[in-house]
Amino acid sequence: MTEKLSAEEAVGENLLRIEEAIQDACIRAGRRREEVTLMGVTKTVDPDRINAALRAGVRCIGENRVQEFLAKRERLELAGGEAHLIGHLQTNKVRQIVGKVTMIQSVDSLRVARAISEASQKQKGDPEAVDPVRQTGVTPVLIEVNIGGEEAKSGVAPQELEKILEEVSCLPGIQVRGLMTVPPIFDSEAEKRRVFLNMYKLFIDIRGKNRDNVSMDILSMGMSGDYIQAILEGSTMVRIGSALFGKRNYPA
Ligand SMILES: *Cc1c(COP(=O)(O)O)cnc(C)c1O
Repeated sequence: MTEKLSAEEAVGENLLRIEEAIQDACIRAGRRREEVTLMGVTKTVDPDRINAALRAGVRCIGENRVQEFLAKRERLELAGGEAHLIGHLQTNKVRQIVGKVTMIQSVDSLRVARAISEASQKQKGDPEAVDPVRQTGVTPVLIEVNIGGEEAKSGVAPQELEKILEEVSCLPGIQVRGLMTVPPIFDSEAEKRRVFLNMYKLFIDIRGKNRDNVSMDILSMGMSGDYIQAILEGSTMVRIGSALFGKRNYPA
């Protein structure tokens, strides 16, 4: 069997494998499969292959860069599916992306949160905007946490989370739906699980505080190399790129 798979078949096969692994992890963790959403991460992936994933059953995609997403957006067959922004968002790009995605997962400062809130309120009633932004003038967001305390990574430090949530919860144009993280890369299972467990504890802790405008129902963690461990520790959304679409080819 050396026949080369079409791009569409390859994505379908990868999806089957990932789906099986997710189901296994859910069983091991005593969780229901419906508790975990699979996001396909589509940076550098062309619209044809993204559409293959959507046709194969992926219901949610994540893009890192505003410009790249806007360039591909018209060609995506999203239908009822969702697109989320998962990469660092600069304040000066906020107006271009609000209303074009269902959720922004990468809120890492009060400044960017304020800009999203303001832009969302302006989008209310705009026929071009996605629901729910059009209907409510509110963008659902996640706060990105730098759980490993890495210098080079964006995200709010765990000890600053309370403060930012307090301020963000007063903004009329955003609703905090949970937390997102990109943890450090670890080789050992134990270390992977330890950081994910720390995230889960933060998530549960904040959920218990019942703040206005803050409903902790999404914990977005786990990528191609660690989504099993993330599910075992309570992730509700895994963001999978290379395991689904193959190795990324970055343009030179
Ligand atoms: C690229 C990326 C992913 C997916 O990474 P893979 O290792 O290819 O699965 C997930 N989350 C974020 C924020 C990313 O930038």
